[in-house]
Amino acid sequence: MLHITDLVVRYGSAVALDGVSLNVGRGEMVALVGPNGAGKSTLINTVSGLLKPASGSVVVEGTVAQVPEGRQMFPDMSVEDNLLLGGWSIRNRQLDEVFDLLPDLAGMRRRKAGRLSGGQQQMVAIGRALMARPDLLAIDELSLGLAPIVVDELAEHLRYLNTERGTAVLLVEQEVTLAFNLCARACVLEAGRVVVTGPSSELAESD
Ligand code: ADP
Ligand code: ADP
Repeated sequence: MLHITDLVVRYGSAVALDGVSLNVGRGEMVALVGPNGAGKSTLINTVSGLLKPASGSVVVEGTVAQVPEGRQMFPDMSVEDNLLLGGWSIRNRQLDEVFDLLPDLAGMRRRKAGRLSGGQQQMVAIGRALMARPDLLAIDELSLGLAPIVVDELAEHLRYLNTERGTAVLLVEQEVTLAFNLCARACVLEAGRVVVTGPSSELAESD
């Protein structure tokens, strides 16, 4: 449902992605790993439409929503208002659906987002992306700054979402163990190029 072909993305004259091809199937969870500066964020931002390719193509069959790096809350607004920021017209149905998927959010809906823990904020960021009812959820750094136990809980929610809704996931993640556990397939990027794509179990063995 996601087809990336020969993708080139530049910042000015600097080439951040240099001919990347990657496919994600319907309902598949794929991890995007690699060192700092490899182009992971650039790739996910291009999939979400925030960046324009210099050449090549990104085709998404369906809706994509992004959980941005650093979560990007509006700290003085309530959880509910953070969820509603997209201006969804059928707000209540959408909210109820998201609260069904992430029940913890219902209990904190009136709280200011800026007062929440990092893990709770990440849940809000995921919930906000789910308001778009995405077929593909693109997540930039699920675990950033969070304790492992909190990350495990978030990962459990993503598994549930994937099983229950068939939502595909493209996960940029520094924590390779987490990425490989959550996603059956992984793509390793280095210096703007795909080094290898394959089953996470095989990539884990070969380091
Ligand atoms: P990663 O997410 O894997 O750490 P990025 O996609 O953030 O990698 O960055 C890929 C390359 O593009 C790096 O060399 C980085 O310095 C560069 N880059 C990222 N964002 C910008 C930007 N806004 N302007 C210029 N260069 C950028
Ligand atoms: P990550 O690689 O995890 O996305 P970075 O530290 O590379 O984080 O980037 C943080 C922010 O700085 C991003 O918004 C990115 O676009 C921007 N950025 C990264 N590298 C450059 C660069 N060389 N010039 C300008 N902006 C950059």
